[in-house]
Amino acid sequence: MLRILIVEDEQAISNLIAVNLEKAGYSCDCVYDGIAAADALDHTPYDLVLLDVMLPGADGYELMRYIAPLEIPVIFLTAKSSVTDRVRGLRLGADDYLTKPFEIIELLARVETVLRRYHKTEQILTEGDLVIDTASRTVKKNGVQVNLTKKEYELLLLFVRNKNIALYRETIYERIWGGEYMGDSRTVDLHVQRMRRKVGWEDRIVTVYKVGYRLEG
Ligand code: CA
Repeated sequence: MLRILIVEDEQAISNLIAVNLEKAGYSCDCVYDGIAAADALDHTPYDLVLLDVMLPGADGYELMRYIAPLEIPVIFLTAKSSVTDRVRGLRLGADDYLTKPFEIIELLARVETVLRRYHKTEQILTEGDLVIDTASRTVKKNGVQVNLTKKEYELLLLFVRNKNIALYRETIYERIWGGEYMGDSRTVDLHVQRMRRKVGWEDRIVTVYKVGYRLEG
């Protein structure tokens, strides 16, 4: 299980991040100031750090200098939208940044992308009775290959990587089809329904009233 350190002094934000990352299958530790962060980094080999900029103790920039030699990927969390702050973080070696407030699906996507860049994502994903090989893009159910179209495969992966999170139809549309959602939910509904039928997950991918769909696990 991949381990993520969350360095964020606003407890509500920290909790929100931790709960959702844990739902998505990551193991998380939360610290609330710069000193505790340095201490945690000394004792645990983390796979990723989510780092708030404004912190008591040592701020995110100082911590970044501490983390850099450890070669752990870092995503900056910043309340500031100023370009200088983002550039400063990236220049110090951060891999990405998120400007607060952010949506959970955006956080999960950034985490996933950064971990993939460091080859830290698992190539084989096992979820329930399915085994997904992300290298060959094949799916097996109880050892038997399930034939999915490209879009169905991408949809399945989106659900698996956002387990227990309600995904809006427009989010699904934008992520899988690209481009702006024009309010026609037929495309999303048809593909989700066919995909879940093919993998036999009619009872696991549920319809969320007025929202879209959620993979329950
Ligand atoms: Ca802060």
